[in-house]
Amino acid sequence: MIKHKYIWFVAVLACLFILAAHHYNQAQLHWILYVLIICVGITAWGSFDIRSNYFTKVWYRNKQLAEKKIALTFDDGPHPITHQILDLLRKYEMKATFFCIGKEIEKYPEILKRIHQEGHTVGNHTYTHSTKMGFLSARKINQEIRITNKLIAEKIHQKPQLFRPPFGVTNPNIAIATEDLKMKVIGWNVRSLDTVLSKEHDILGRVLPRIKPGAIILFHDTSERTLHVLEQLLPYMKTKEYQCVTVDQLLNLQPYES
Ligand SMILES: [Zn+2]
Repeated sequence: MIKHKYIWFVAVLACLFILAAHHYNQAQLHWILYVLIICVGITAWGSFDIRSNYFTKVWYRNKQLAEKKIALTFDDGPHPITHQILDLLRKYEMKATFFCIGKEIEKYPEILKRIHQEGHTVGNHTYTHSTKMGFLSARKINQEIRITNKLIAEKIHQKPQLFRPPFGVTNPNIAIATEDLKMKVIGWNVRSLDTVLSKEHDILGRVLPRIKPGAIILFHDTSERTLHVLEQLLPYMKTKEYQCVTVDQLLNLQPYES
């Protein structure tokens, strides 16, 4: 696992080495620029690839699992469409995990309660889901998570321990906030692109070949398209004898504070 602190430590050493070598006419100063470009590139990859584990520990699959179990995860709800997704999950006897936004919980508290009552797991997906999440201070991110945990605890009487960062972005401030609050960061290894691709056929085409034991799939319970994909995906899983479980079951984690 590459950690950002090590990368920048090595970069500083490399720059000092180049400066020393330059002093003895053995290196050129612009080599420092190359070192910095490589570091910025690695840091950008670490920020945007949730599987990188670059800034903090992220659970994104269960590699050891041999049983035919996967975890469906739904971000950005609760939303009126969540009801129909819950109906489908109940019909096919599958469980899932919903990473909910605080502001949406305020709009649809009853949907949040239904998610919990039907045996699915509720996780934290920040209060505002700000597009500036990658630039917020650790204090602000901490506040976003705490407010949402409080809202969830008021509705389901359990305080979440699972957190999914909006847009899958991680950085040093998100690492500080989640470590302070003892939240576990949950990623995915299969991205359905259900908010990007316009055709259900294309979304299924991405997901089906990637279904393997221990996989975590990212969906959003905010669009009709996702619902129609699930109408085809869930019966397919049944015929293949796959079971959808909550992400905490898949990863052997505690979903809530005890
Ligand atoms: Zn989101």
